[in-house]
Amino acid sequence: MRRFSCPTCANEVHFRNSHCITCGSELGYLSESDRIMAAPSGSGRWEDEGAVWHACANRQAIGCNWLVEGGRLGAAEADVPLAGSLCLSCRHTLVIPDLSRPENAERWAMLEEAKRRLFYSLVKFRLDVGDLQAGPDTALRFEFKADELSADGSKRRVLTGHENGLITINVAEADDPTREKHRKAMGEPYRTLIGHFRHEIGHYYWDRLVADGPALAECRRLFGDERADYADALARHYDEGAPPQWQATHVSAYACAHPWEDFAETWAHYFHIVDGLETAGWYGLEGLGQGVDPMDRAAPGWAEAGPYGADEFTPLAKAWVPLTVAMNAMNRSIGLSDFYPFVLSDVILGKLAFIHRLIHAPR
Ligand SMILES: [Zn+2]
Ligand SMILES: [Zn+2]
Ligand SMILES: [Zn+2]
Repeated sequence: MRRFSCPTCANEVHFRNSHCITCGSELGYLSESDRIMAAPSGSGRWEDEGAVWHACANRQAIGCNWLVEGGRLGAAEADVPLAGSLCLSCRHTLVIPDLSRPENAERWAMLEEAKRRLFYSLVKFRLDVGDLQAGPDTALRFEFKADELSADGSKRRVLTGHENGLITINVAEADDPTREKHRKAMGEPYRTLIGHFRHEIGHYYWDRLVADGPALAECRRLFGDERADYADALARHYDEGAPPQWQATHVSAYACAHPWEDFAETWAHYFHIVDGLETAGWYGLEGLGQGVDPMDRAAPGWAEAGPYGADEFTPLAKAWVPLTVAMNAMNRSIGLSDFYPFVLSDVILGKLAFIHRLIHAPR
């Protein structure tokens, strides 16, 4: 994630901010041009170079600070109030939790905040999210649901997962104690909302970019044959756990469950790496590794477009590994658990390089 400053007063502001705490400007994020815009407090209308933008319709409800294009200044449509218009990220959520339950509004807000970070990366990678109108069955879609109590008192559980482009997230995952409980129960070193999103879209893009395409054979060679029965594989994983020495070949224990899960876990890590490197670059964290600068900012693509635009994966891996070593040491020095509790073997780096080529392949 890059750094932002308030266009009015130049104070540093963050990706999630709706207001500048220094000058009071109303802030809005423009995903097409990756910038924060400022408007006079209370105006609810952002103008620049003859164009006008409005707030996402979810701004009040969940603090979404993304903007929706309103047209050219002076044109009739620019003055039509865009009630009901959702931003690029919010638009792809089809189901929100029952807001009559007080805990759900905050959980929904937290999920959408993580999802905007996801869409930030998708835009930067130029990954197609599909067209909700023209191709509603192939567009990337989300539903955020809560467990429900049936009339007989039993609990209808909502499982987080992906099916044909529809990603379901149990809103309880936005509750820190609940997520921590699940993390411990599953023996995971890492469980976050952004991690869930990055993992689940891995399944979506496997369908879009790998299935029946030219990359399928290489994908099978690296991740295994996904035709292995999925339900059986998952049942075996939950029964027996990951095989010994799994760290040499898989980025997480869960990645061993099935080739699809390995792909999704590795896909999520690729997003962690690229976004993490972008943040590191903006905050001047180069050289955190061994007193040298491992960041090859001159690497082709990186120089022009940052880590999101890097032509090759190798410079990214070379910069990322020492950075994580340093960040882990930082966390330990103040008693926190590891920032990045993973080890990237050569086999895993090979899988990550495949994901890199897949995302950057001309489409
Ligand atoms: Zn300001
Ligand atoms: Zn929005
Ligand atoms: Zn999965």
